[in-house]
Amino acid sequence: MVGIVIVSHSFRLAEGVAELAREMGGPDVRLETAGGLDLPEHPVGTDAVMVMNAIERAWSPDGVLVLMDLGSAVLSAEMAMEMLGGQREGVLLCEAPLVEGAVAAAVTAKLGRPLESVAAEARGGLGGKIAHLGVTTPDAPTGATDREGEAVTLQVTVRNPHGLHARPAARFIQTASGFEASVQVRDLTNARGPADAASLNAVAMLGVTEGHTIEIAARGPGAVDAIAALEALAQRDFDDVPDLPAPDASTEVAGSVSAAEGGALTGAPASPGVAFGPARRPRPVELKVPPRVATDPASEASALDVALGAARLDIEEQRAHVARVAGAPAAEIFDAHLLFLRDDALVGAARRRIQADHATAAESWRDAVEETAAAWDGLEDGYQRARATDLRSVGAQVLAHILGQQQPQLELHEPGILLAADLTPADTARFDTARVHGIVTVHGGPTSHAAVLARSLGIPAVVGVGAGLDRVEEGEPLAIDGSAGAVWIRPTEKLAGRLRDDQAAAAARSASARAGAALPARTVDGVPIEVAANIGRPEEAAAALERGADGVGLFRTEFLFMGRDQMPTEEEQTEAYARAADALDGRPLLLRTLDAGADKPIPYLHQASEENPFLGVRGIRLGLERPELLATQLRAILRAAEGRRLRVMFPMIATRSELRRARAILDEARADVGTRASVEVGVMIEVPAAALTAASLAQDADFFSVGTNDLTQYTLAVDRGNERVASLTDALHPGVLRLIEVTVSGAASLGRWVGVCGEIAADPTATPLLIGLGVSELSMSVPAIASVKEAVRATSLADSRALAGRALLCGDAPEVRALLEDG
Ligand code: PEP
Ligand code: MG
Repeated sequence: MVGIVIVSHSFRLAEGVAELAREMGGPDVRLETAGGLDLPEHPVGTDAVMVMNAIERAWSPDGVLVLMDLGSAVLSAEMAMEMLGGQREGVLLCEAPLVEGAVAAAVTAKLGRPLESVAAEARGGLGGKIAHLGVTTPDAPTGATDREGEAVTLQVTVRNPHGLHARPAARFIQTASGFEASVQVRDLTNARGPADAASLNAVAMLGVTEGHTIEIAARGPGAVDAIAALEALAQRDFDDVPDLPAPDASTEVAGSVSAAEGGALTGAPASPGVAFGPARRPRPVELKVPPRVATDPASEASALDVALGAARLDIEEQRAHVARVAGAPAAEIFDAHLLFLRDDALVGAARRRIQADHATAAESWRDAVEETAAAWDGLEDGYQRARATDLRSVGAQVLAHILGQQQPQLELHEPGILLAADLTPADTARFDTARVHGIVTVHGGPTSHAAVLARSLGIPAVVGVGAGLDRVEEGEPLAIDGSAGAVWIRPTEKLAGRLRDDQAAAAARSASARAGAALPARTVDGVPIEVAANIGRPEEAAAALERGADGVGLFRTEFLFMGRDQMPTEEEQTEAYARAADALDGRPLLLRTLDAGADKPIPYLHQASEENPFLGVRGIRLGLERPELLATQLRAILRAAEGRRLRVMFPMIATRSELRRARAILDEARADVGTRASVEVGVMIEVPAAALTAASLAQDADFFSVGTNDLTQYTLAVDRGNERVASLTDALHPGVLRLIEVTVSGAASLGRWVGVCGEIAADPTATPLLIGLGVSELSMSVPAIASVKEAVRATSLADSRALAGRALLCGDAPEVRALLEDG
């Protein structure tokens, strides 16, 4: 019996249609559904993997008929077919109406009819209704006719600021594909076209910009409906997303130039400093396609299909992630990326090469992508031209899958200011700092890990600027001020001059601070404060020492695990930790155990995707879930500790039992290694529960280090990577300060010391306050060490205690900042 699959955007609709069809066809009809998405917040949508699974469940040697509702249901079903590869034989995507088609198909399938007959019955499903009601054709929209296969046409003037660029073009194509009609579009203003509305590349290549009039022509039974839907879409300006509101930089600036001057784009200040240079978007490192003779076109074609399916899953995952973090509109650009994967200009061209030229899947795909991207490069509108980068990066993703290689890394080919939608910490760590003069991102908050890294690398950065950044053309001259969170496009000479003056003044200030950096930092009343460095690689330890660090207060060891295919071995880790410790010349090295997960994914750990990864398996939770991972690292640390001054701490501890379990693994590791080397054991205070139970945790810990980046995120309920809540991410909120105070008093009950290694430790204005709260160690990105040491030397313990007392009574972070400015 033929199997039937119902694909719908709505779970309930799919189930309802199936219920009705079973009612008519009988309970034993092979009927499966793929309805909605498995995302509680976004239940409406379709998912190619769900469709593929439903097809597999409905599988029958007689074939499977797939019925879909509209738009992306059709796209997802087509993608599912691609993923099925050779198994798609006997699966038919049918254009029949969903409800009537399903009922007719169920009845016919039950009779044991072949697939063609079941499909034919489904297609004729509307017959009964038409006969009963008589044919009624809806009024054609403006200027349209629908007689005997003639085209139904519509003319509209495009009002979008960048015309039919990738995102609105994607909406156009998705809408057009929801009907039984073939749709074409012409640009009447520049006399280009017609282009097939099924191809994003073909539509984008028309070069439709603001004010152009386009003519849309549809043919086929669904032409009238297609034109009506497209007219409604055009009236909504193709659902183009307005620029995301940039976070409020309140024109608060460190230098003399206000962010409001010269119409700057504003974002969150992420790494201080001024930078100038042409706008540069990173491109994927070019993957080498090995020369190989293709012997079997069918297997090359299926290798291409499998890679397209895998890339689609990657992009869908990225889409879901961005939608969660930055909202659905920001994620829509991924719709365009998904359309590339089924675009005839690319996929069709690659397939034709495989068949006609006997080329390999990799060669065919690479050439098809490059030819199409070169055509995008030739477009007149700079904004549209810049989308070639998107196409190349999607192309590289597919190519990596074909070649079975790691996903390609991004690289800046020429020096300048790097522009990106968002950056992972791994991307940021890999960039050649000689080429990256500054960084600007669409998304991200000031304590996201990419921002943290930019600070350690001393690269000025502005994050969370919003979609306005997409308007910046490749090569356009930019100036950025990382302290003000401002980006100027084509800055005037006058403005650039003033920024340079600010830059020179800041350099003079930091030179004078550096002069005293090597000396220990004591408050005016003689209290020593350890000023240490945050590092991510052993090589940074020497630079830290050179810039005056009293040791390393946070080695984010996860960076050793990134940018590679597999875990570093115990020996590799031992060598790295020993090397960092040796560079410190007897000063302490504090290693934080692996803190992977959330915004620091490590692909080869294959962590399950989570609805709320920041609240999921991250930090110590991963170490306890996979004890061998943690044990290996702890053995490496203990081996490196022989004859060296090492400290170790566990990230994201929320309960004492977690700490005890981690310590038990440490004890076992110690027994395995057979060492008596002494290592101080600490806890990162990043979760409010840990701060509030510090007195209890202190019984199993030698020290605490407060990770204010996460502590702020979890106390104020602000995702540190989400630019829309970036203005709330301030560790000086009295709620966070109170938790530091509670931690210090819990630690003091057993004589333990408390440090701070979150980003607030790098802010010299906060130094007196942290000292006043009882913190005795501050750890920060290397460039901040000198100025924080200066701030320590200007602080008196007695005054700072009084200051801390007043800050704890404030209502919010701006009030605390005002208090600090008043002294
Ligand atoms: C913190 O959370 O403050 C911290 C130092 O850890 P990370 O920024 O690496 O999460
Ligand atoms: Mg943290």
